[in-house]
Amino acid sequence: MTSILFKNARIIDGTSDRANDPVDVFVENNLIREVGSGITTSAETIFDLSRYYLMPGLIDCHVHIVAGVANLGVNATFPDSLVMARSIRIQEGMLKRGFTTVRDVGGADYGQVKAWEEGLVKGPRLVISGKALSQSGGHCDFRGPYNPWPDHYAQRLGSLGRICDGATEVRRFTREEIKGGAKFVKVMANGGVASPTDPIHFLGFSREELKIAVEEAENAGTYVAAHLYTDEAIRRAVECGVHSLEHCNLIQSETAKFAAEQGAVAVPTLVVYDKIASIGGELGMGASAVSKVEAVRKAGMDSISIMHDAGLTLAYGSDLLGEMHQFQSEEFVLRGQVMPAYKVIASATNIGAKLCKMEGQIGTISEGAFADMLVLDANPLDDLSVLGHQGARMAAIMQNGVFAKCNLQ
Ligand code: ZN
Ligand code: ZN
Repeated sequence: MTSILFKNARIIDGTSDRANDPVDVFVENNLIREVGSGITTSAETIFDLSRYYLMPGLIDCHVHIVAGVANLGVNATFPDSLVMARSIRIQEGMLKRGFTTVRDVGGADYGQVKAWEEGLVKGPRLVISGKALSQSGGHCDFRGPYNPWPDHYAQRLGSLGRICDGATEVRRFTREEIKGGAKFVKVMANGGVASPTDPIHFLGFSREELKIAVEEAENAGTYVAAHLYTDEAIRRAVECGVHSLEHCNLIQSETAKFAAEQGAVAVPTLVVYDKIASIGGELGMGASAVSKVEAVRKAGMDSISIMHDAGLTLAYGSDLLGEMHQFQSEEFVLRGQVMPAYKVIASATNIGAKLCKMEGQIGTISEGAFADMLVLDANPLDDLSVLGHQGARMAAIMQNGVFAKCNLQ
C-alpha cells in the first residue's frame, strides 16, 4: 500500500474563477482518500505544494489514438501491429501533456483498453466508442468513387469506423460495438473533411437509422455521439436523440439553444482545423481535404461564442491526427480567446468526466476519485498556455496514484 500526502495545495478544477484556499490531499493507492485542511494522517511521502497549483488530470473528449498518420484512408490499410506501435507513442504523448483520460471517438478497441488496465501501455485511461458507424459514402468510407468492394475496414485497427446501411445493420453494429467494449456509440451523421466522397453538407444516415442507434445506446444505458458540422445536421441529430455533438463548427444560435434545452453537450475541436489548414498538406492529407477545411475553420471560432452564449455545455476536444497530436493542448488557448479561462478548464475536467460517464471518479480532486492530478508551476487561470508546452510547466503528473512524472522536491 502506498500513501502520499500533498500539503498546502491550491486547487484549480474549473468550478471557480480563482484557486481555492490551500488544503491537504491524501492519496492512498490509486484513490484520493481525503481532502481537507490540516490532515494529520501519516503518509509514506509528503510534498509541500505551497509554490504550486494542483489540478485534476485533464480529459480530452475527442481523440483518435489509432490515427498514426493524417491520411485516414491510408491509416486503415496499415498492419494492426504497426498501428498499435504508433498508437502507444500517441498515448504516451497525451499523458506527458497531462491528459490522464481520453474519450476515443472512433478506432480504438477493447484490446487497447485492456493493455492500459494491465499497465502495458503508459497513456491516458481510455473511454472508447469502438468503430464509428458510417453509411456507405459517409465519413468513414475511404474507398473513393471507383472502388465498389464492400467494407473491408471494420476489422482493421487503423480504421476509425465501419460501414453499415439500413435499420438492421445499424442496429446490429451498434450492439456489436457495445458488446466489444464501447462505452458510448459514435455515428457519422454529416459529411467530413478527411473523407473523399462526402461534402460537408451531406447528411449521414436517415432519421430512422439515427433513432435506432440512439435506442440501442439507451438500451445499454449510454448515448450516441455524432460527427456534425452544419446547423441542419446538428438540429436533426438532436431531434433524433443524439446527446454528444462533435465539432459543431457551423451551428447557429437557435439550434444551440435547442440543443441546450435538450441537455446535449457539444465537443468543439478547433485546433484540428487550424492545423489541417496550415500543415495538413505537408503531412500527406489530400488537396481536397485541405481545401474542404477552410469553411469549417473560419466558422469554428464564432461557434464557440454562439454555443457559450446559448448556454450549451462544452467539453474539451482536439481530434488531432498523426504528427499533429503534439498540438493537443492548443485548444485551451484558442477557446480562452472567447471564453473565461475557468470554463475552458471545466470543459477538460468536470464536464469531460460527465461525458465519459465517470462523474466523481475523474476530473475532480475529491474523496473517492481516482488520483489523477497535475501539479503546475504557474496558475492556468492567468494563462491557459501553462497547460501547453508538452507538459513542461507540469512539475508532476499523477495517474491512478502513480507518478507519470515527478520533479517535486
Ligand atoms: Zn468528426
Ligand atoms: Zn474525430
